[in-house]
Formats: sequence, C-alpha cells, structure tokens
Amino acid sequence: MEICSIPRKEKDGSSKDIRCPNIVRDYNAHMGYVDKMDMLKSIYEIDRKSKKWWHRIMWYFLDVSIVNSFILFKHRTGSSIPNLKVFRVSVATGLIGAGQPARSRAQPKVTNHFKRTVPYEIRYDQCLHMPVYSKSRRCAFCSNTQDPHRTRWTCSTCDVGFCLNDKKNCFQVYHQK
Ligand SMILES: [Zn+2]
Ligand SMILES: [Zn+2]
Repeated sequence: MEICSIPRKEKDGSSKDIRCPNIVRDYNAHMGYVDKMDMLKSIYEIDRKSKKWWHRIMWYFLDVSIVNSFILFKHRTGSSIPNLKVFRVSVATGLIGAGQPARSRAQPKVTNHFKRTVPYEIRYDQCLHMPVYSKSRRCAFCSNTQDPHRTRWTCSTCDVGFCLNDKKNCFQVYHQK
C-alpha cells in the first residue's frame, strides 16, 4: 500500500505530519464530489416508473451522463450557461432538431431589446470555417490573373482567402453547396 504524509492538527493547535495511506488522503480530498454529483443529478432527474428494473439503471446513467456533460461543457468552453435546467433543455432541443439546419430549429429569443440571446445549441452548432483577419491574399473564389482580387479575410479551416465586405461575400458563396 502506498503511504504519504499529511499534516494533522494537534490539541494544542500545532501541526504534525502523520503517515497515512494514499487512498485515505484521496477519499478525504474528493468525497465532496460524490455528494455534489448526487445533488446535481437529483434536481431534474428522469423519474419514470417501470416494471422492468433495468430501465431505472438506464435512466440513472443517462442522468449521470447529462450532469457530467454539463460539468465538462462548462469547463471546456468557459461558457456562462446559467444552470443545469438550461443545459438539459439545450441538449433535448439539439437532439430533436439534429440533422436540420440551425435556422429552422429555433428563433433567437429576444430577452433584451439591445442584445439578442441565441440558444446554446445554435450558438455552438457550427465552429468550422470561421473568417479570420490576416495578411492580404488573393480570393480563392473570384480572383484570376486577368481580374485579381485581394482580401484580408481567411477561412480558418480551408486556410485560403475570400472577399468579405459590403459589396461581395465570396466567403459565403464558396461555402454553400
Ligand atoms: Zn472554409
Ligand atoms: Zn472573392
């Protein structure tokens, strides 16, 4: 068994290092997460009765997966998604609308007259082919030797330049089938 040393407070207030198995140290450090998981899982859990016992196990793991996804999503994206309820609804609407273009799924909700709020499943729907401002290049769509066109907008995925201004949007035309 692997042993480590941890500080322990003595009765007189002083601290003394004592030996303890790693497993005990890890349990003490992380036991709160199990309670937190149970708490998060219980708030909006799927509570469907069924005669088949294994259905309940399936719902349990589905709830655990959603809570874990919520934690990972917040961690990875640094998102300000307000709570688990909003996340669950986003997952559900995202799955229901899977395979359809984002535009027809849900309209952005107007909660603030000056700043529109976009649902998370739409906001993160596409994250490829973003315009990036960079050095001047020839437009990969409309430029040729007789009629050269230069632009500073580059596609983050294709790594070629496209016109993107008030007169022309080669960026959009090129990416639409
Ligand atoms: Zn592209
Ligand atoms: Zn162009």
